[in-house]
Amino acid sequence: MPTIIEELLIPETNKGIFYGGAFHPASRSDEIIVMNPATGKRFTTVPDATTEDVVKAVAAASAAFPAWSSLDAFDRSKHLLKFAEVIRENISSLAILEATVTGRSLREMNAQMGRIPEWLEYFAGIALGLEGESNQLKGGYVTLTHYEPLGPVALLTPWNHPVLILMKKLAAALAAGNTCVIKPSELAPVSPLAIAVLAKVAGLPDGVINVVTGGPSTGAALCAADDIHYIDLTGGTETGRKVASQAGQRLIRSTMELGGKTPVIVCDDAEIDAAVAGVLFAAFVASGQTCVAGSRILVQSQIYDAFVEKLAKRADLIKLGDPMDPSTQMGPVISQSALERCKHFVEMALSEGGRQVAGTKSPDLGGPFAKGYYIRPTIFADVQPHHSLFKDEVFGPVISITPFDTEEEAIELANVGDFGLGVSIWSRDIARGHRLSRKIRGGIIWLNDHHRNDPRSVWGGVRDSGFGKENGWDALRGYLTKKSIVVRTEPGFDDWFAGGSRYG
Ligand code: NAD
Repeated sequence: MPTIIEELLIPETNKGIFYGGAFHPASRSDEIIVMNPATGKRFTTVPDATTEDVVKAVAAASAAFPAWSSLDAFDRSKHLLKFAEVIRENISSLAILEATVTGRSLREMNAQMGRIPEWLEYFAGIALGLEGESNQLKGGYVTLTHYEPLGPVALLTPWNHPVLILMKKLAAALAAGNTCVIKPSELAPVSPLAIAVLAKVAGLPDGVINVVTGGPSTGAALCAADDIHYIDLTGGTETGRKVASQAGQRLIRSTMELGGKTPVIVCDDAEIDAAVAGVLFAAFVASGQTCVAGSRILVQSQIYDAFVEKLAKRADLIKLGDPMDPSTQMGPVISQSALERCKHFVEMALSEGGRQVAGTKSPDLGGPFAKGYYIRPTIFADVQPHHSLFKDEVFGPVISITPFDTEEEAIELANVGDFGLGVSIWSRDIARGHRLSRKIRGGIIWLNDHHRNDPRSVWGGVRDSGFGKENGWDALRGYLTKKSIVVRTEPGFDDWFAGGSRYG
């Protein structure tokens, strides 16, 4: 008998919307077509959920909330550990599913899926260590604080790391005692459905995890649903503005993990080969489709020419191909429109005077991949701060390199624009690294490395890159509210309106 993931891998098996522990047909027949980016062919379809479907999924999350939130933390943690175990047993099929729908290489997805259980294990662990405080107050009072979950929460996720980004949110939300309704990206909605089914296999109660598939209107319906008490979005900055406004109108809390334009600063004292390898990873892993993609490379003048030459040579050697082939180093981008956006940036860079040093050849893939959304790693040198490639998020494998002379100039160039997400700084001088890291805008700074992500390492941006945190205690506490209990310990009582003396 095929496993659930094997079933989801069979093309054209629209299983429905997942809520209350089972798949249900949608209330209308409209479907979202999910493509295989490597072939440019249709892979499967999922329902385009309506408000009516969303209301049913939220009702399932509401029905599950009282029991899940009142479980003892030890028992909830045991559920999460079992969930982690079931995911671990399914890593290789999950990786195939991710690679099929996103086009990312199987090598990348095997590595990424291998770490997914750690998010559940980490949050299952730290949730046991949540402690309130107690204080003695003036007048003989004692206060206590307790943490409480928020209720059913909405998790809106993008397509670039469909399982990883979901799990960063889901593990924290569940460990805190919330129930969830997930709205995955319309471009890659299949693996989040698999995650919900694996939770059921692991014995999580029905209704704790629910998934509604659809596009922005399904997401908006979820954000508007009455019993949603927190919205956690990872997506583009413009989507963030809309969703945060909706949360603001409803006075519910939200986390916004949004776009970026990550600067990579390579100082003249950096270890060059390490920095070249780091920039290649920063820029081209996931075909450049990560929020912290190193896309604005700033290199100190003394090493600029040598660095550009080495980087371009290595980039031109990156092997594009079938994502399922273990020797493939880079897959396609997610969609035809993403490919066109990348090509538009290339044309703009050429017209604005950038010097193309890598990616001039066509991807040259034949056979079933001839119509895939492939573009070679593309690098422009001598890009100026007013060029579009320097300022705007490409979300694809097209990057810029710009020289700088002094630290002050590097800081100024790195801080162009309004994003503030990831930054990496390459220097052997640790004091210099710290000095720069204090002055460059960003939520996550890597010194001599790039894009390291771990459940213990807090993640999140500032300004146009959003607010709120994933990972670490901050993420767990974000999914909780603190209740204060004030206990009177003095005998008798104070009667203010009969001349009592105590106020406050
Ligand atoms: P997107 O904004 O198009 O979509 C994100 C999710 O929001 C999807 O599920 C989408 O259907 C939903 N959505 C869109 N409009 C909505 C609306 N009005 N109301 C409710 N839901 C709505 O983003 P994407 O193209 O899927 O992902 C790429 C973007 O995500 C990039 O900008 C990237 O930088 C960002 N991203 C950020 C992080 C981070 O950690 N900061 C991580 C990954 C991706």
